[in-house]
This record gives sequence, C-alpha cells and structure tokens, in this order.
Amino acid sequence: MTPPTPPPIAGRNLERRCRILSLAAVAGLLAVMTSVVALALLWAEGWWAPGVPILILDLLCLGLLAWFLARFLVWWPRKPAGVPIVLMLHSVGEAIAEPTAPNNSIRPAALDRLVADLQASGYAFRTLSEACSAPCPPRTVVLTFDDGFADNHANLLPILLRRRVPATIFATDRQGHDFLTDAQIREMADTGLVEFGGHTAGHVHLPDLPEADARREIAANKRRLETLLGHPIHAFAYPFGEFGEREEALAREAGYRHAVTTRKRGPWGDPLRIPRQIIPRDTPPLAAYLLATRGKSHL
Ligand SMILES: [Zn+2]
Repeated sequence: MTPPTPPPIAGRNLERRCRILSLAAVAGLLAVMTSVVALALLWAEGWWAPGVPILILDLLCLGLLAWFLARFLVWWPRKPAGVPIVLMLHSVGEAIAEPTAPNNSIRPAALDRLVADLQASGYAFRTLSEACSAPCPPRTVVLTFDDGFADNHANLLPILLRRRVPATIFATDRQGHDFLTDAQIREMADTGLVEFGGHTAGHVHLPDLPEADARREIAANKRRLETLLGHPIHAFAYPFGEFGEREEALAREAGYRHAVTTRKRGPWGDPLRIPRQIIPRDTPPLAAYLLATRGKSHL
C-alpha cells in the first residue's frame, strides 16, 4: 500500500539568499565591531563616556551576530562541486524532541523542505552505491538513514515518492514496532528509490567484539538482507561509527564495496571510510541546508 503523500512544498533556490545573508551578517558584524572600537576611543580620549546601556546594547548585537554566524553557516565556502555530499540521519517523525528519540532525527516537514530546497538549488540525489559506482552530476547529495526505523516507512517513503529522490537505509536484524518489518523493507526497495545497506545484525559495538563475533554480525545481517531482497547488498554503515583496520577488513571480506562512517572528513578515494555530514536532531531546514552544502564535513 502506498502511504499518503504530504502537501506540496515549493523548493527555494537558497544560494542567492545565502549570498545576501552572508553579506548582511558580515556587514553587521563589521558595523558593531567598528562601533565598539569607536566607543572605546571616545572613552580613552576622555571625550565621552558611553553609558552602561549603550555598552550592553553593543555587546548584545555582537553576541547575536556571533550566534547567527555560528548557527547559520552562510559565510562558509560552499562545498566543492564534483564530490558527493553524504548526509546522515536516523528517524523521521514528530516525536524527535523526546529524550528517548534517536540522535540525528528530523521532522517530516523539515526533511521535505530540505529536499525541495536542495533540488531547487541544483542538487541531484543518488543512493550511496550509485554515487560510488557511477559518474554523478556536479552537485550530488546522498541521503542516508541508519538503523531502519519504522518511521522511515511511514514518514520518509512518502517524501521520497513525492520528490522522486532516492535514499539509502542501513538496517539491522532487530525486530519490534520501532523497526522496519520485512514487508516494509521489501515494499520500500521495490519502489526503486530505496537502497538497503547493512548495519550488523544486532547493532553492536564492533571493536569490542572478538573477531569471530564481529565477522558473524556483519555477515549474518548482509545474508539476511540479501535473502529478503533477492539481490546483493553493497553498502554498509559501521554501528556508532566505530571502526578500525579490523572492521574495515571484515566489511571488505563480507563483500561490502562501500561503507560510511560518522567522521567529518576523509578521502572519497577510500570506499570503506566514507565521511558523512551529520544533521543534528531537529535542525531547522535552513540550518540543515547550510550544514549540507557548507558544513565542516567534506572529503
Ligand atoms: Zn546505528
């Protein structure tokens, strides 16, 4: 059954807006700093002693601008074209403000807005395996969702269908109402928009396990997904982003071609250590767009 689609949201080309915001913020910062220096000079020369309210106002403006520039990375250089941007998310739902909600979760409306804005700003979408194995458009985004939460079916799939964008979901073998059922995994894969990747059977801390157990966790999960979907699984995500030489070797041994980490930087040339840009929980769409296109994470 196809889930209901959300109401349409028109994408915005945010690049022009980013340039204007960047210039305005830098001009504002310069103006406030100039006024601070001017007030200090006036006071030092004994011409005029600015009152406490003026000093507080100046510092307040300075603080607000600093907060804005730290929160909204409009002034960061845009990530280079030609290198895919891999975003990391988990749950897609409205309950993400609860303390028990997973990190890196996003509200459906915010994700829909982010995807629409990225599309309108010239970004194309690919699955992880597509981005790793074929030439991509100059500005390509890979949406990844770890853990296989059930809300990926209820809330993510309608957005993917509506926007016609692909995504990669890293699923474990965990069962329960929080996680995707086998039928949901098959249904999502059958749309042709969702690639499923492995994430170990039990979402384990791989480096803490004896080698034989770590190997079994990786291989059993891969086998289960391949049996379920009837085709090879090529993509893997290290649970908790924890990995080393041994885990990379085990992923390669299991037959994985691409593996994503939670690291911010790394060489795109190493397909088993692909860095991702984490989108923190409940990030507003504009801040998420700026993180995706300008964040610290790059290759
Ligand atoms: Zn995970």
